[in-house]
Amino acid sequence: MTDKASKPAKLVGVKGMNDIMPPESLRWEHLEQQVREQMARFGYFNVRTPIVEPTPLFVRGLGQNTDVVEKEMYSFVDRLNGESLTLRPENTAGLVRAASEHALLHDGPKRLFYMGPMFRHERPQRGRYRQFHQVGAEALGFSGYEADAELILLAHQLWQRLGLTGISLELNCLGQPAERRAHKEALVAYFQAHLAQLDEDSQRRLLTNPLRILDTKNPQLQALVNGAPQLIAFLGPQSLAFFDGVKAILDANGVPFTINPRLVRGLDYYNLTVFEFVTDQLGSQGTICGGGRYDYLFEEVGGKPAPAVGWAMGMERVLELLNVQGKQAVTPEVDVYAVVDKTDHLPMAMAQLQGLRAQGLVVHMHARGQTGDVQSMGSLKSQFKRADLSGARFALVFGQDEAVRQVVGVKNLRDREAAQTELAWGDLQAWGASIARP
Ligand code: ATP
Ligand code: MG
Repeated sequence: MTDKASKPAKLVGVKGMNDIMPPESLRWEHLEQQVREQMARFGYFNVRTPIVEPTPLFVRGLGQNTDVVEKEMYSFVDRLNGESLTLRPENTAGLVRAASEHALLHDGPKRLFYMGPMFRHERPQRGRYRQFHQVGAEALGFSGYEADAELILLAHQLWQRLGLTGISLELNCLGQPAERRAHKEALVAYFQAHLAQLDEDSQRRLLTNPLRILDTKNPQLQALVNGAPQLIAFLGPQSLAFFDGVKAILDANGVPFTINPRLVRGLDYYNLTVFEFVTDQLGSQGTICGGGRYDYLFEEVGGKPAPAVGWAMGMERVLELLNVQGKQAVTPEVDVYAVVDKTDHLPMAMAQLQGLRAQGLVVHMHARGQTGDVQSMGSLKSQFKRADLSGARFALVFGQDEAVRQVVGVKNLRDREAAQTELAWGDLQAWGASIARP
């Protein structure tokens, strides 16, 4: 068929969900590696929970009136049993569910971390996607403020090892439920006295979740919100002492922070400490990491009560910040590119190369693209062009002349002047050891 109209339509990915391709994926792997090492230093172990969870886990865990539950969840009905399932919009609820289900805390508290894709139906824009990735660190079963401080120190040091600057820490204390109730009453009274100034969204929230009004992104409401009663005035001595404990540890570590009394976080499960790491270098999506204490979440999802604290970091935003700060490329190290003149020499060449890889060298072998005919490996000239493109330090030449004498040609690709030399087949491993990177 030659009729154009009969060609199948080109399929493209889902809006707001990104493909991560090389070389970009190298930057991801670098970040992931840094995160794993940093977690290990603090004794946090990796957990992998399913991407799909029962919908009630999020409704109960995050709160019915949160942005995520109200409008951002990818939920669907399992056709086989009618159960409502949801693509995880965050990982804390799933992790707490898993910890309860497996009685993970039976022999003491646990330090855990996760890393992976999350799903929220948001309007896609810079730093905001529908599939995005989070790293999270969670200290489960720890009741003392030292766990809160440790988690903040962990993140703070991660920015340092990534070479990031211009990140500030905002801190607040949400107190305990009774203190929040007293504050909420005062808040409702205040907003009711200024009802006409509220936007439609906030008027609705006044009835459902008035605290959330403080989280508003409407610039017209900022003055009103700034004048609202502050929770800190309702905190009792225990909550204040807890907050002081966190602050003293941060001070001792020279970690600067500002107290932001309006920091409430978007999800319902927090108490006592909440914090965000923010930057002004990413436009309006400036929060790169946020978290806090959630001592009531275990109970909320039907588990045995346990105190806990944690944070989640947006990987896309951290990578974008690295980008903005000029810390972009991670170049792959290639040691050897193998040039093979004809198909007859492939078995011998590929056996030799396997030995070099076993020694830890990075070896790319020339292989035919779409245009090669069955017999030809393509011209040596075009193969050398590929060798240069690969960034390899050396080209190894498996050619006819060389094969007869049981040698391979060696060309130093970083030194144009250097002549091509030769190596006996039997000396290849020793040569490999001699060029190994430390
Ligand atoms: P925001 O106020 O930006 O919507 P949030 O309070 O909804 O953030 P959290 O649920 O606390 O975000 O998630 C922790 C981190 O995950 C955020 O600080 C951010 O870095 C990242 N994040 C959240 N939603 C997205 C998204 N849709 N796309 C990319 N990153 C996101
Ligand atoms: Mg959000």
